[in-house]
Amino acid sequence: MARVYNFSAGPSMLPESVLKKAAAEMLDYEGSGQSVMEMSHRSKYFDKIIKDCEALLREIMNIPDNYKVLLLQGGCSSQFTMVPMNLMTKNGKADYVITGQWAKKAYQEAKRYGDINVVASSEDKTFSYIPKLDKSTFSPDADYFYICMNNTIYGTVYHELPDTGDVPLVADISSCLMSEPIDVSKFGCLIAGAQKNLAPAGLTIVIIREDLIGNAMDITPTMFNYETHAKADSLYNTPPCYTIYIAKLVLEWIKNEIGGLDKLKELNEKKAKLLYDFLDNSKLFKGTVVPEDRSLMNVPFVTGDKDLDAKFVAEATEAGFVNLKGHRTVGGMRASIYNAMPYEGVEKLVDFMKKFEEANA
Ligand SMILES: *Cc1c(COP(=O)(O)O)cnc(C)c1O
Repeated sequence: MARVYNFSAGPSMLPESVLKKAAAEMLDYEGSGQSVMEMSHRSKYFDKIIKDCEALLREIMNIPDNYKVLLLQGGCSSQFTMVPMNLMTKNGKADYVITGQWAKKAYQEAKRYGDINVVASSEDKTFSYIPKLDKSTFSPDADYFYICMNNTIYGTVYHELPDTGDVPLVADISSCLMSEPIDVSKFGCLIAGAQKNLAPAGLTIVIIREDLIGNAMDITPTMFNYETHAKADSLYNTPPCYTIYIAKLVLEWIKNEIGGLDKLKELNEKKAKLLYDFLDNSKLFKGTVVPEDRSLMNVPFVTGDKDLDAKFVAEATEAGFVNLKGHRTVGGMRASIYNAMPYEGVEKLVDFMKKFEEANA
């Protein structure tokens, strides 16, 4: 059976060697006589899986000891509520930068719980850039400062972090998790859905500085309180066991087959450069993002003609390049080229785009 090149924004491609390992261990995980899907989350087998998963995350991301790693459910969307409920509790204020739909959803949720200052927005140009930030517009007494680091839908990324001083920086890193090294110590809290770059859907990762835990609002549901999960080592209730197991396999792949985040960054830059260079020189296709804010992970592009865009997506799908249709708010196409997309997949896509350009220019 031929596998397609899957450019989905999420859930997305997983490394083939991980899928094969999971298949081989499906019926009998390490002599347990069971699949990981079937076993108790309190079993010695699963206890080792979740501990290994966290240890690998800490090792690969170089997470300092004064940070907790929480393996939760509810998607990154639940974090849009959990962040304000847990962190907006000293002065009841927070700063938000609106760089796309996910940042906007986070903002809309947060303003139900406190006083939100929108520091900047790039909505005026369909979120095709990261706004320049003016420090004098930051609230010195904000409980935290919120950004969406990589904007999955629009294909922008922060290459430079805002200098928030003592105000904890909170970042949604759903679509750039594990794509390159990140200095965790610069953040108060990192949140991410795992289904973009690490695992199947169902797992949400929170990396939070310890001193920010334990101050949740009184109304916070037990399941939405970081302290609940921190105290129980992410085993307060049944965690997403199988997804955590696949995440562990992907982390082993990053460590042992790829060689860590520096190496992944190098590979991801090489893949993205191939596609962006082509777009910059193409007479038919063009990227929608200003060059200085381009994402390594999500690459939106258009032909400028809706019918031609649709023709391209249809012919690409036929040729085995799937999920290239852009988000409805941008139109056109989007190629998500996460860690598991091989260089060869981007190379073949670019060849296909060249041929399409020749036939339709
Ligand atoms: C996909 C995505 C989300 C939403 O994640 P869910 O797990 O579906 O709730 C939030 N933020 C970003 C940046 C995303 O890419």
